[in-house]
Amino acid sequence: MRPPLIDPFGREISYLRISVTDRCDFRCVYCMSEDMTFLPKRDLLTLEEVDRVATAFVARGTRKLRITGGEPLVRRDIMSLFRSLSRHLASGALDELTLTTNGSQLERYASELAACGVRRINVSLDTLDPDKFRAITRWGDLGKVQRGIEAAREAGLRVKINAVALKGVNEDEIEGLMQWAHGLGMDLTLIEVMPLGEIEPGRIDQFLPLSIVRARLMERHTLDDDPYRTGGPARYVRVRETGGLLGFITPMTHNFCESCNRVRLTCTGTLYMCLGQEDAADLRAAVRASGDDALLYRAMDEAISRKPKGHDFVIDRRHARPAVGRHMSVTGG
Ligand code: SAM
Repeated sequence: MRPPLIDPFGREISYLRISVTDRCDFRCVYCMSEDMTFLPKRDLLTLEEVDRVATAFVARGTRKLRITGGEPLVRRDIMSLFRSLSRHLASGALDELTLTTNGSQLERYASELAACGVRRINVSLDTLDPDKFRAITRWGDLGKVQRGIEAAREAGLRVKINAVALKGVNEDEIEGLMQWAHGLGMDLTLIEVMPLGEIEPGRIDQFLPLSIVRARLMERHTLDDDPYRTGGPARYVRVRETGGLLGFITPMTHNFCESCNRVRLTCTGTLYMCLGQEDAADLRAAVRASGDDALLYRAMDEAISRKPKGHDFVIDRRHARPAVGRHMSVTGG
């Protein structure tokens, strides 16, 4: 057994999120600008290199892998990565292999994901109104996403819906989204919009504190705190009237760093120790410098020794600047 990865604050790193591409077939307005420049393919880790880094993390105590992006299911041959990583589920080294997706490709891939041992997936969906959906995603087709969700459910995958709460955009729909998700047996998690990357419209205008959403829901629903945890930052309540779980991810109004067990690998092999800080480590150099994993382990140890205590997102109102320059599609949601 290799030693676990423990950061300077005694937190054990057991959860690796891997962004396999910065590309996406949608351009959600709060996530990307319309004219994004994407990375040249040569800068990306190959899927074999991604597997190698993931495997090194599993050897050092990672129990949960989440594949994300950009849109992970638009990366060419992505199923080969799921197939190869599933060996860690089979061996018992890994508890969970999962993904976050916009759902657009799920009709095609749901059953194959289930066959690779994926049990739960997160699907991002902010509205059930087709026109609003097109406006938020800039060109997405809601029907296709809904068929994808259906395909996932039919394949036996547990689906959790993630919705970013956007002031003046979907705030009137949150109760409806919850009724719909819970009616189909799916949990719903709400996310506060985070100041990541330059985008066109002012993010200050989009920010809707979940404390307000929660108070509004409580006018017509009873929310009981629930101990349910997925290893991520969401805190849950069970809604008595629907019986479903409702999660809140509140990076802006409530800091969740004290129990952070996560690090994030980008598609270029950069390891971010915190979503809300710029400090990072280049694991690609270690991977490419030697076929032996000793250098990679050393780079991982060095990176984790620099994991910060937490982030301090602030929307800089005076200069209307994001707290972190890179987009969510770079670090992976
Ligand atoms: N394409 C996949 C998807 O749509 O789920 C995975 C990547 S996407 C970047 C992951 C999640 O991050 C989505 O739920 C998205 O809504 C969310 N997200 C993107 N930018 C965000 C921001 N600035 N603040 C909060 N959430 C954001």
